[in-house]
Amino acid sequence: MSAKKYLLSTFSVILFAILAACSAPEEAANEMDEFTFANYDAIVVRHVDLDLDVDFDNKILTGSAELSLEILKPDTNTLILDTRDLAIKAVFTEASGGWQETGFVLEDGGNLMGQSLTIDLPEGAAKVRIEYQTSPGASGLQWLTPEQTAGKEYPFMFSQSQAIHARSWVPIQDTPAVRFTYSATIRTPEALLALMSADQDPYTPRDGEYSFEMPQAIPAYLMAIAVGDLEFQAISDTVGVYAEEYILAAAAEEFSETPMMMEATEALYGPYLWGRYDLLILPPSFPFGGMENPRLTFLTPTVIAGDKSLTSIIAHELAHSWSGNLVTNATWRHAWLNEGFTSYVENRVMEEVYGKDRAVMEQVLGKADLLETIAGFEDPAMSALVMPYGLNDPFEGFTDVPYQKGDLFLRYLEQKFGREKFDTFLRAYFEEFAFGSILSEDFYSYLDENLMSPNPGVVEPEVIRAWIYDPGLLDVAPEPTSDAFTLVSETRAAFLAGEISATELGSEAWITHQWLYFINALPDDMAMELFIDLDTTFDLSVTANAEIAFAWYMKSLQAGYLTVVNPVEEYLIRIGRGKLIYPLYQRLVDLNQRDWALKVYQKARPGYHPIAQARIDAILEL
Ligand SMILES: [Zn+2]
Repeated sequence: MSAKKYLLSTFSVILFAILAACSAPEEAANEMDEFTFANYDAIVVRHVDLDLDVDFDNKILTGSAELSLEILKPDTNTLILDTRDLAIKAVFTEASGGWQETGFVLEDGGNLMGQSLTIDLPEGAAKVRIEYQTSPGASGLQWLTPEQTAGKEYPFMFSQSQAIHARSWVPIQDTPAVRFTYSATIRTPEALLALMSADQDPYTPRDGEYSFEMPQAIPAYLMAIAVGDLEFQAISDTVGVYAEEYILAAAAEEFSETPMMMEATEALYGPYLWGRYDLLILPPSFPFGGMENPRLTFLTPTVIAGDKSLTSIIAHELAHSWSGNLVTNATWRHAWLNEGFTSYVENRVMEEVYGKDRAVMEQVLGKADLLETIAGFEDPAMSALVMPYGLNDPFEGFTDVPYQKGDLFLRYLEQKFGREKFDTFLRAYFEEFAFGSILSEDFYSYLDENLMSPNPGVVEPEVIRAWIYDPGLLDVAPEPTSDAFTLVSETRAAFLAGEISATELGSEAWITHQWLYFINALPDDMAMELFIDLDTTFDLSVTANAEIAFAWYMKSLQAGYLTVVNPVEEYLIRIGRGKLIYPLYQRLVDLNQRDWALKVYQKARPGYHPIAQARIDAILEL
């Protein structure tokens, strides 16, 4: 951001601060989640008990959900829940006279929100039981045929509830503002293992019936289930990996440092409060890098690079056990409270476990991504930490902004107040709001009370408010520099000047980060013989490292080095992780290769998750 813009934004911030001084906290306290139908200001779900059959033939879950309720407003006589494409067969309520059937209305609220389920509550009703089944196209579930798994013998099913997809497999108050405990009985084909984001015994017999207890209260987006031909391998007494057999040993080896990460995070931010911590390696169609489902992180296999260079994702998902799962954004507009804090904690843990050099490399790459993302926004409001109202889907706001800008903000605070004071503050913050759902204004008040007021003059309140509420990036944002990357820059310059060839880069010990930094800054008009030199020397077009391959394809397509045939086609069909495939489809469209992209997509689409399908449908304007 230029100095001029900064002056302007400071001015508007001062104006805003004057207004905010009287209106913001009150407004914040009343902010309701715009992505739920639930009347959670009147009544809240406190416990969910699921009883579900997993029917692979019909690709549905069928059974019941029993919800225990707490009435907040005494005259409440309806319970409104979120659903999407659920077939509701019957609803019962429990009051003093036992269980009895009750009336309900399903009302369509459109593609994004799904259907509201309004249930009549007789006086004194404390529980409802909903008998239902999911639809084969449930947006939060992916059903894989045996052919779509590595083992080819058994089918696989897994959930992705964040942000608002839990409602497609459980009738629920699908808002991060409401927390509940849960229990479940899940019946599957006998050869398969069911797992949930709950307490589970890794050595439970495979008998087709599995029971779960989740004693800690969580929001709906952290409910998770997976069923497949899964094996378990322990990493320590309390940490282990579930995966299909083909990748189990490689995953356990790649993530063998997870217990060290756990120790480092606990030393910084207090005890891990969730019991076991296990990892579940999903098929390559999982649309995300990882999902922080409590006790059981869901992971893409694309981070198994063979050299532990992409393990920051474990630090990230583990960090969510404090930021996000323990202290949760109350609405998705404030997702930076989950993702910015988690990115910051992730980087601190990486520094503890792998040293400062690697942590700083990740900071540099993160900031470069953020600047590119911000430059690409048509609507500047998208670059504010607090997302604008009225997004088409909460996930539209899950750009680099909540992650990387949130991280920069917290590093700014760390630099200003000093690491020791900031660590103490953050530890106390996690304790203060543990198992709570909060808004940005709650954070601001806590920061003001515990760090700003006791240390007057260290930061200006209007600058802090600008960080949270203003678009763009302030000039005061930290500017990380990495010596390792400086060396890579020098090497790249020598290579581009023709002083050295690819064999002379000295890249033998480079980790993935250095490769990404090297490739991303190659000029688009680099001579073809240099592309050929790099590719023949390092086999970049066929590398098994999914992140390096992605960077290489993006650059090569732009430069016209790769004619659009394999290996991009093979890559797009094999991998379903959004971060690695959405930009490739977009680049093909931008390069007038939409027809070719469409042909590949027709082959790849059946293997993609519904979330990825919807996103790429939009990119290709289908
Ligand atoms: Zn995250």
